[in-house]
Amino acid sequence: MKLQQLPSEFQEALPILEKLKASGYEAYFVGGSVRDAILGRTIHDVDIATSAYPEETKKVFTRTIDVGIEHGTVLVLHGGQEYEITTFRTEDVYVDYRRPSQVSFVRSLEEDLKRRDFTVNAFALNEEADIIDKFHGLKDLEFKILRAVGVPQERFNEDALRIMRGFRFAATLDFDIEEQTFQAMQETAPLLEKISVERIFIEFDKLLTAAFWRKGLEKMIAAVAYDFLPEMKGKGTCLKAMLDRLRPDFLFATSEQAWAMLLIALDINEPKNFLKKWKTSNDFQKAVLDLVAAYRTREKTSVDKFLVYQYGLENLLLVEQIRQAQDLPIEIEQIKALDAALLIHSKHEIVVNGRTLMTELNLKAGPNLGRILSEIEKAIVLGELMNEKEAIFKFLKEKGMI
Ligand code: ATP
Ligand code: MG
Repeated sequence: MKLQQLPSEFQEALPILEKLKASGYEAYFVGGSVRDAILGRTIHDVDIATSAYPEETKKVFTRTIDVGIEHGTVLVLHGGQEYEITTFRTEDVYVDYRRPSQVSFVRSLEEDLKRRDFTVNAFALNEEADIIDKFHGLKDLEFKILRAVGVPQERFNEDALRIMRGFRFAATLDFDIEEQTFQAMQETAPLLEKISVERIFIEFDKLLTAAFWRKGLEKMIAAVAYDFLPEMKGKGTCLKAMLDRLRPDFLFATSEQAWAMLLIALDINEPKNFLKKWKTSNDFQKAVLDLVAAYRTREKTSVDKFLVYQYGLENLLLVEQIRQAQDLPIEIEQIKALDAALLIHSKHEIVVNGRTLMTELNLKAGPNLGRILSEIEKAIVLGELMNEKEAIFKFLKEKGMI
């Protein structure tokens, strides 16, 4: 089959293929971008595979960066873009289920395509827009089926991350998983415990934020794969309940929102510990924990000025979305109005601080100063005090605090 037209992302990269070919090497577009081009989806990174060895690729181009030369990848800068050019390779004996013990460079495209995970990820595309389809991936694309390349059991044994990638592609592409492929995913799922948590997080995160996240999660539940993910052992019932309690058309707006909902649905007592076990960044942890806390507070109280000040408009709107998705009452307009009426959105916006109070009112550092500052903050947030120095000093006098 031929693509009607090479999408512009590939056209821009054509000179790279042509240069490699002019030097006597084979070169193709490969990977997810080819799949997405056939499906008419947005294309991100255009990856190139070549018969040239990394040292040979570096000789062909003037501007290159070594990014993973031991894996055969060289970054080529062209037309303001970066392209990963990877030598055709096979991956031998997998010793720890997570990375190939040895990468061998080969001169054959077919060998390279064989090591790829799913048939729909194993296309190559040449400069004439011909699609090379050694594993009937086009047929699988047509029927929206995810099928392992080769013997499924072997492929997931080699690299168990592919199991998570499988659920993730079901979620991003709205594909079903071919029966034997699914069975092998189920059987090899215990090997997920050997995979680095960071890599699993990336796949699970992509799954949750995908357009067909329900499908991906349903497959993960059906395969009982959650049993081998951090802090999720035995959580099948909760995960199913998460699907049931959210409206069928609900999509997560952000990763943080998705993980907050996951924590809520799993009824995790120590959310921080959970996120630590998933080895997420501190910023991510903080953002998710804020959302969970805001959600829990919202369960107990209706919205007021202080809630809006404390958690911020953005967080509260994300919380209202997951409330709405569960058919719980929402207060979106009121939250917006309260936020618009707030005199300050952070204590840093208060015109006085500890230093001002110490120098101008002769106050001493210590717990009392802290108390005074928080009284000021509270009064301003509640709209009882203007954020002006004179008004603040008068307020403190009236309250007998100075
Ligand atoms: P995305 O659109 O999310 O980038 P992708 O299919 O391009 O999806 P990448 O992780 O970017 O996925 O990998 C590029 C290609 O490399 C894949 O399409 C696949 O052919 C191959 N690949 C990546 N990871 C694996 C793996 N663990 N096992 C086998 N092949 C893999
Ligand atoms: Mg990609």
